[in-house]
Amino acid sequence: MTDLIVVGSGFGGSLIAMIARKLGFTVLLLEKSTHPRFVIGESTTPLTNLYLEQIADRYQLTQLRSLSKWGTWQKDHPGIPVGLKRGFSFFHHEMGKLFIDDPDHSHQLLVAASPHDGIGDTHWYRPAFDEQLVKWAVDAGVDYYDQSRITGLQFLSDKVVLSYDRKGNTYDIEAKFLIDATGPNGFLFNELKLKEGRFPHLPDRETLYTHFEGVKPFPINPHQSGQELPYPVNNAAVHHLFDGGWIWVLQFNNGITSAGVSLRRDKAEAFKLSEGRPAWQRLLEQLPGVRDQFLDAKPIIPFIYQPQMSYRCDQIVGDRWAMLPAASGFVDPMMSTGFPLNLRGIMRLAKMLESHPDLDNLESALFAYAKTTRKEQNLGSLMIGALLASFNDFELFSALSLIYFTSASYSESAIRLNKPELAPSFLLNDHAKFGPRARKCYEKALNLHSKEERNDLIREIYETIEPFDIAGLTDRSRKNWYPVRAGDMLRNADKLNTTGEHIGKILQKSSFLKKPYQVSNK
Ligand SMILES: Cc1cc2nc3c(=O)[nH]c(=O)nc-3n(C[C@H](O)[C@H](O)[C@H](O)COP(=O)(O)OP(=O)(O)OC[C@H]3O[C@@H](n4cnc5c(N)ncnc54)[C@H](O)[C@@H]3O)c2cc1C
Repeated sequence: MTDLIVVGSGFGGSLIAMIARKLGFTVLLLEKSTHPRFVIGESTTPLTNLYLEQIADRYQLTQLRSLSKWGTWQKDHPGIPVGLKRGFSFFHHEMGKLFIDDPDHSHQLLVAASPHDGIGDTHWYRPAFDEQLVKWAVDAGVDYYDQSRITGLQFLSDKVVLSYDRKGNTYDIEAKFLIDATGPNGFLFNELKLKEGRFPHLPDRETLYTHFEGVKPFPINPHQSGQELPYPVNNAAVHHLFDGGWIWVLQFNNGITSAGVSLRRDKAEAFKLSEGRPAWQRLLEQLPGVRDQFLDAKPIIPFIYQPQMSYRCDQIVGDRWAMLPAASGFVDPMMSTGFPLNLRGIMRLAKMLESHPDLDNLESALFAYAKTTRKEQNLGSLMIGALLASFNDFELFSALSLIYFTSASYSESAIRLNKPELAPSFLLNDHAKFGPRARKCYEKALNLHSKEERNDLIREIYETIEPFDIAGLTDRSRKNWYPVRAGDMLRNADKLNTTGEHIGKILQKSSFLKKPYQVSNK
């Protein structure tokens, strides 16, 4: 009998399998496909990378730590393709018109996530990233089998019994616990015929995406306002927003660019999104600014069409099984919350494994895991619902997005300053002062009836985030261009219950002020 079966070898499955091995469990990892393979979901954030570091440190996964920053990735793993992400770039387009690049930046929002490339975030080129993680899982002693088709599954009171076919042979295996890491609409959802639910607040959206070669950078005039660009705008998760949808563009350093669109159902039907490439062309014709970026671009794999962006399985855990967060629900790629939610779930499951070495009597731990997983997804759904509802009012969209950026930067700093008690939950959701007020702002954005309500809401958003703003995000003189500056943190040290001197010392010691591994800013 093996201790643990993990089904699905995306980064999530390999990671939990590796951790379990480090904890001394025997692990079987089953994959239906082979690596390298295409999978969507690429862009990281400071919180993603912080969680990756925490996992690497806690479970002595040293190689993994290098992958948490652009600089160490380039130094230690230059052979693994990756994209540099210095921030979140948003450009607001009017259909049929060229992008307006005005000195007030009223149609753009640039929020830096790092002060320089060395500690920049990344876009994971998943074919290579996931393949590497599987190799490390195997090195850690995980029994890994690709091209495996599961043919039988039974959950008994004391064990899991599973059969799978591989290359014409059938294998029967018994284990104490099973983790489903197969992503949305995955293995257990189908095998156990679980029910699909809906996240509240979200309109139906369809999506179409692929990888391209030959995508050009989006041109932004860096001199219009006299301000300094907070980071090279294309070394980022680039979002092109328009009525009813948005396009993402993520550049990797191997000449490949990931791009795709999320469209509200009515727009998706109007553009006949299910037709794939022709629909993409039709859409670009309506977005001349973006079309120029893709003039010479060629898809390197066929377009992938998904008729529904979001997915929610009603059940997350059961007797002797648990789904990773990504297998239990997905809200939307905007704000790149998929990875951090998956990593937080992996950390919770890993702690459960640590405290239950016999893998018995897991009911209350599983119940708590499921409750937190759903709560975090629901926050994502409320936040994304509010953002999607404000696509046609870019000032409001920008203000709402600052709630996310404020809570993310505050949480990251609190944890790095070793004050985790200041950021007890995802995006400060359970923070007594921040959580309820932020949720109220999102709810109001979903129910606006007048210009006055809308103006009041923007005021309320700024009042809500100001006590937690350690990054100058409430400084309106920055006109939607927000760099990461040490001075902002030093000035706002009291918000983190510390002194500027203390923060200064930590920044001196860390890589924050150093600038290794810069790439040219094309
Ligand atoms: C359009 C889109 C864009 C996204 N962009 C982002 C982003 O920019 N940032 C972000 O943080 N998140 C993003 N996400 C979410 C992100 O994709 C997921 O959080 C992430 O991929 C989950 O990783 P995983 O390893 O758990 O599962 P997956 O990456 O889904 O991997 C699942 C693995 O299981 C295997 N598998 C499936 N079924 C079976 C089976 N029956 N038996 C055996 N193996 C099986 C698959 O072959 C695959 O290898 C995005 C999601 C979508 C839909």
